[in-house]
Amino acid sequence: MTEEENIPICVNCVKDVRYKKLISGLNNIDLCTCCQDKNYVIDTDSNEFIQMTKALIRYHYNE
Ligand SMILES: [Zn+2]
Repeated sequence: MTEEENIPICVNCVKDVRYKKLISGLNNIDLCTCCQDKNYVIDTDSNEFIQMTKALIRYHYNE
């Protein structure tokens, strides 16, 4: 196990409801690197996560 591998984060550890929806929609269960629980997770290196992050940044900073 290396630190450069996937960094999954689970529905409980994301704050934004849009992330929660995205993660539960992926249906991907794994160990969360944040809380060490087995739950629905998203790989923070995945396209879905990056796209969502970009969208949220635009949303928050373009008012
Ligand atoms: Zn977690």
